Amino acid sequence: MILDGKACSERRLELLREEIDESGLHPHLATVIAGSDTGSQMYVRMKHRVCEQVHIGSVGIELPADVTLDRVLGSIRQLNEDADIDGILVQLPLPAHIHADQVIRSVRTDKDVDGFHPYNLGLLLSGSPKFAPCTPKGIMTLLAENRIGVAGKHAVVVGRSIDVGRPMAALLTNADATVTVCHSKTRNLPDETRRADILVSSVGKAHVITADMVKKGAVVIDVGINQLKGKLVGDVDFAAVQDIASAITPVPGGVGPMTIATLMENTFLAAKLRTCDTVW
Ligand code: NAP
Repeated sequence: MILDGKACSERRLELLREEIDESGLHPHLATVIAGSDTGSQMYVRMKHRVCEQVHIGSVGIELPADVTLDRVLGSIRQLNEDADIDGILVQLPLPAHIHADQVIRSVRTDKDVDGFHPYNLGLLLSGSPKFAPCTPKGIMTLLAENRIGVAGKHAVVVGRSIDVGRPMAALLTNADATVTVCHSKTRNLPDETRRADILVSSVGKAHVITADMVKKGAVVIDVGINQLKGKLVGDVDFAAVQDIASAITPVPGGVGPMTIATLMENTFLAAKLRTCDTVW
């Protein structure tokens, strides 16, 4: 089975637009980007386009590559205080001289729709997430929508980044999977991945997951986005692994669209939470 993230995200976005229209709320997302990285600019443009599609208002703050940390923090402060803004997304990576951690920590936790603030990561670890990071949360949605159960399964996550690997492990643990996290210092990676009922790879290296590393019938989720001979590919050798896996995400068209749909869902969640008496 090919896990079609594009089709799934389109269904979710359609439902979300209806829900937003019925709610009477007018959610707003603000994006902050620094520098002129073409990949980052493309992602931000895409996010604004999808906002429009689901009737979420959006504003974009564009800062130059040589921006000071003070100016970035000043922009976030303004957005934190702006009553019209429900969600704030800081497009990563930031220029090397800007401490990303400091910027992430400056976002109000109830507007942190990326879920990277340590407070929101803490809630996730405690088992009661509010804003879980969009990529792993989108993967959980994709599994659920395809009726792939997680409880009791052995999940192996390759990669331990804050945006994908660690929160993925937490979400899978919260859903009662038994989880192994692997990284660049893992001894004998194939031994670990071959034990996976659900294998998630977020490494960023083309074909780091080969057919001999996958158990027959495993569910394979490929987060990686890599260029190989001018083509966009994931971490997984798709052509070889698709015959072994019971289900697999393609690249492109798998995890990526689910990430954006989840960002929209998190923004609407932020707008809903701001209208009720939730204690943060
Ligand atoms: P990251 O912060 O660079 O983390 C990569 C992880 O892979 C690290 O934990 C690293 O280990 C581990 N690693 C590196 N080489 C390895 C190896 N040979 N064997 C096992 N583990 C290895 O990356 P990320 O933010 O998670 O992103 C990973 C990829 O996913 C990138 O291609 C990125 O573009 C893509 N991505 C896609 C989406 C989407 O929506 N589709 C979202 C986010 C990211 P150490 O910790 O030991 O260094």
